[in-house]
Amino acid sequence: MVILDGKKASQAIKNQLKQQVLSLGSDKKPHLAAILVGNDGASETYVASKVRSCEEVGFESTLVRLDNDVSESTLLQAIETLNADDSVDGILVQLPLPKHIREQRVIESIDAEKDVDGFHPVNAGKLVQGLPSFIPATPYGIMLMLAHFNIDTKGKHAVVIGRSNIVGRPMSILLSSNHPQGNCTVTICHSHTKNLEDICARADIIVAALGRPGFVTNNMVKDGAVVIDVGITRVEDSAAPKGYRIKGDVAYEEVAPKTSAITPVPGGVGLMTIAGLLKNTMQAHLNRTQITVDR
Ligand code: NAD
Repeated sequence: MVILDGKKASQAIKNQLKQQVLSLGSDKKPHLAAILVGNDGASETYVASKVRSCEEVGFESTLVRLDNDVSESTLLQAIETLNADDSVDGILVQLPLPKHIREQRVIESIDAEKDVDGFHPVNAGKLVQGLPSFIPATPYGIMLMLAHFNIDTKGKHAVVIGRSNIVGRPMSILLSSNHPQGNCTVTICHSHTKNLEDICARADIIVAALGRPGFVTNNMVKDGAVVIDVGITRVEDSAAPKGYRIKGDVAYEEVAPKTSAITPVPGGVGLMTIAGLLKNTMQAHLNRTQITVDR
């Protein structure tokens, strides 16, 4: 069984990006602007790690912090300012947003050319049609991980659990696409799927993205399957230093021995998500000079 180590795979991508930044020349650096609304602990952690990763590879980064009770129009104005700022290549708004703000409205207000999270409908549409686009960072990171570890996907039966716009749905499209890490026959499962256990048990590849800790158990995984665990849930644990532990959607201890390859949580897909975001930011920067990087 191979542990699909996100630290190793993401470091390899970061090293490539560092070299690419150096080759751009000192006055030309990709620039990511992140907007963080409020002070949710998990969102703070994610944004901090995105900003830190930008610094690590030599990108510029800007963090715009807004209060939890900021109005939707003020947030839209902040996005408009970044849209119009020629020095900014990529914009992300950390989700989730407070309930009084319409998330879709915010997503659609980001210039699609700077939408490095790949959530804008223009980018989602391009992805469906197989056109160059910003791929949502998590599924993109998973594709990069499959490539890094030479996982054979062609003709395999992949089961994706979860159909969200940011993970499950784009993942299912990528795995079914005519791509070196695609060409799977894909089944997409969701909260209304019947016989989910049987469907998973027939899968060569399982991508679990539903946000239910330990959901995928031993009996749902066939011998030799590849298991990608996207789930990140904070589970209270008074014995843990922070008072919680991060749990994936897969019951790792019982499932791992049956698999041919599996991602750990933490240390798997989360780190690849950042790698995907950095690659998208580099692409956004290069698009201004009409250069394309290999996907
Ligand atoms: P979401 O809540 O938007 O979607 C969850 C999906 O799971 C839905 O499509 C729902 O139909 C499906 N689902 C829920 N219960 C189910 C059940 N019992 N059986 C089958 N399907 C079920 O969540 P999301 O934003 O797609 O995120 C999913 C998980 O991935 C969360 O734990 C989230 O924290 C994590 N996540 C991790 C990363 C990362 O970088 N590792 C990035 C994004 C999301």
